[in-house]
Amino acid sequence: MPEDDATIRHSPATDPGRSSRVQVAPPRVEWGSAPAGVPAAKPVRRGAAWMLGGVALAGFVAVGLGAWWVVLAPVGPPVVPVVAVPVVVAPAPVQAEAPPPALPAALPVPPASRLAALPPLLEEAALRDHRADAPVLLRLAENPAVFLIDFPTLEAQGAAMNRIAALVEKAGLPRDRVLGEAEMAAAIARAGDSAATFYYGHNYRGTDLQRFFDLARRDAVALSPGEAWVEAQYRLARGLVPAGQEMVLLSIAAPGPLMDATGRASILRHELSHGRFGTDPAYAAGIRQAWRQRLTEAERAAIRDFLGREGYDMADEELMINEAQAYLLHTPDPRFFTPAHIGMDEAQVERLRGLLRQP
Ligand SMILES: [Zn+2]
Repeated sequence: MPEDDATIRHSPATDPGRSSRVQVAPPRVEWGSAPAGVPAAKPVRRGAAWMLGGVALAGFVAVGLGAWWVVLAPVGPPVVPVVAVPVVVAPAPVQAEAPPPALPAALPVPPASRLAALPPLLEEAALRDHRADAPVLLRLAENPAVFLIDFPTLEAQGAAMNRIAALVEKAGLPRDRVLGEAEMAAAIARAGDSAATFYYGHNYRGTDLQRFFDLARRDAVALSPGEAWVEAQYRLARGLVPAGQEMVLLSIAAPGPLMDATGRASILRHELSHGRFGTDPAYAAGIRQAWRQRLTEAERAAIRDFLGREGYDMADEELMINEAQAYLLHTPDPRFFTPAHIGMDEAQVERLRGLLRQP
């Protein structure tokens, strides 16, 4: 272990007796595994032992043999008696080897699996080509405040994410409480969808997710297994982004009977643009300014109408702006968006794109 090596390197190498005792008592390992009842090492004690020149003193003091040591120390090497009671004195040489400042009584040992538990960083192309056989949390390499859950099926995605969509942005549904399961099923049926097709991709800011889980807890609404898993991923992701900095959690699903690979790639691009809008204040500010100052009210209305038909809450202006940039600038698949969707031709939409892209 590198820490142990470092401990040994810090000790003076000129005392062969001390060196041999380091070998007798494995360094540092003993710190975390001292027998119950053996007091934790204290810096003051180690310093005193060092000054007196008897490296075993701390150990003997610890077991009440200090007086014996004072008498015998000058007449012979204490190595043999120390080795004769290894369980008790084993920590002492290591304590004496480390000069001040002291090591803490129990050094935290990072779990070997911590790195494996972190979401892998993938660039957009790798996210596009990724295929999940179980839901998995990934992280955008180009913008580590953006996380993405890749689901193996649209059904699995819907079961975990649809109630969040219902709370955050679906038109005609309450913004102040989490729907019950039966209400959710009814809302999906009213929309003419199934749980799989209610949304093809999702995007939520950390604050949206926090609100969903807070409201569910407030009203004792039980989370589905998928939602509980999403909450765990959100907590993990939130902890990886500095406090005060917004994060965004996206989701998409693997291609299947209801969505091909081209569709997935387009949905990913669309959702990633929400990731940028939610985490890049300068980008979002530029889009908002263009929406308010460069587009005409008729142009905004045409976009709002389209989004309303798609089921987005038209009363949420920030949602309208966010979806406008996602559909007009970042949704290449014509099955999801064409100029005809907002009653315009290609040239008109290109002009709007230029206005939205202006810095
Ligand atoms: Zn969107």
